[in-house]
Amino acid sequence: MSAQTTYSFFESVEKSFDKAALFTKWDNGILEQIKACNSVYRMNFPIKRDDGSIEVVEAYRVQHSQHKSPCKGGIRFSHAVNQDEVMALAALMTYKCAIVNVPFGGAKGGIKISPRNYSVYELEKITRRYTSELVKKNFIGPGIDVPAPDYGTGEREMSWIVDTYQSLKPGEIDAAGCVTGKPITQGGVRGRKEATGLGVFYGVREVCNMPDVMKRLGLTVGVAGKKVVVQGLGNVGYHSAKFFRENGAIIIAIAEHDGAVYNANGINEEDLLQFRIKTGSVVNFPGATMLAQTSDALELECDILIPAALENVINGDNAPRIKAKIIGEAANGPCTPEADEIFIEKGILCVPDMYLNAGGVTVSYFEWLKNLSHVRYGRLEKRFTENLNARILAQIEELKGEPVVDKERQIIMHGAEEIDLVHSGLEETMINATREIMDIWHSNPGIPDMRTAAYVSAINKVAITYTELGIFP
Ligand code: GLU
Repeated sequence: MSAQTTYSFFESVEKSFDKAALFTKWDNGILEQIKACNSVYRMNFPIKRDDGSIEVVEAYRVQHSQHKSPCKGGIRFSHAVNQDEVMALAALMTYKCAIVNVPFGGAKGGIKISPRNYSVYELEKITRRYTSELVKKNFIGPGIDVPAPDYGTGEREMSWIVDTYQSLKPGEIDAAGCVTGKPITQGGVRGRKEATGLGVFYGVREVCNMPDVMKRLGLTVGVAGKKVVVQGLGNVGYHSAKFFRENGAIIIAIAEHDGAVYNANGINEEDLLQFRIKTGSVVNFPGATMLAQTSDALELECDILIPAALENVINGDNAPRIKAKIIGEAANGPCTPEADEIFIEKGILCVPDMYLNAGGVTVSYFEWLKNLSHVRYGRLEKRFTENLNARILAQIEELKGEPVVDKERQIIMHGAEEIDLVHSGLEETMINATREIMDIWHSNPGIPDMRTAAYVSAINKVAITYTELGIFP
């Protein structure tokens, strides 16, 4: 197998699409339209650096599909951003949204900078200028295209975006819905920050709860006790590790760009994060050993491997050395088509990105709905439910002739708050998507892997929208 990735990222996505299209009944024309990137906006704009010099910044926004409005997808800040990458990521957003029944088209944005090399003030100027370029070309808006965080961006950047948008669109009543992943104080929703990591956990947990699947892999049912390796300690990696650990899995290694830490008895992601904040690096984290190379973490003996950083990290070169039984793709595109072929040969189950990391966009959808409705989830019904539950509880106690124990009382009484509703909506979404994809896979013996089954699900859902809407002139 060649050491190099033979396909560009966008070509990899197309290749996986074509592999799955064979298992659908759609005309070639419809398949071609689903696959194509509808709009690519490439821009350059100048910013003045803190030292007074002028720098020209390269940036993109790609709308892969407008079969539903608005388009949706994050914005990444990375020196590796290029048009092909943004197109691939936008395409993945289309399929991701379709699979989890989030009614958006797919989009993605990218700014070609290493955020570490810029001051906060410079980053703010870049983000605001990028936003006003999007406004000028009608590439942003609650009903047009709604960005969100991605690699290298977070709440801070989203609040700059919403502020810039609102100042350019005075009086637009739904303006807060022009971007998601905002801080709560700027119209964000509780639960968005951890959403992708929690979704990864819910998705992999559902797979681990399937006795037939676990039997095939030679694993016991359930997440508890499973050895997990996580690549990446960003928002997605950190939260994935947190939820796996809190539910009884053992995080034996965490890899970052500057080193990988290993401890067979488990690593606490919060301690590691605090250590990195204090020292600026994960290197020499107390109580753990450093692996010779950070990429060695991917090849460790473990049950579950969670790549939660960037694309193409598992490819034809290192896939033969992967020892994990399950790969949970928390990042977008971490495994190449060459790696997929090797997983099939080796019997490794790869749980694909395009639905496994859909937790972020699912909760973005909840945030967008909140922005359009202008009301916090739970505000109307929480107190009503609690009053009702109190009365039911009183009846039960009367019948029982004794009080219900305190812990149970609290659980029964509790009316749902925003965070409860967001988490339960996310759990429901991830469980349903996992089951739907598994059903497609198992009901068609020709489908070689879970990624292909996920694509089949996505293609069918997008194609139905096109044909039922009679969108073609
Ligand atoms: N950037 C995330 C993703 O790749 C979230 C996108 C969104 O919330 O719109 O799925």
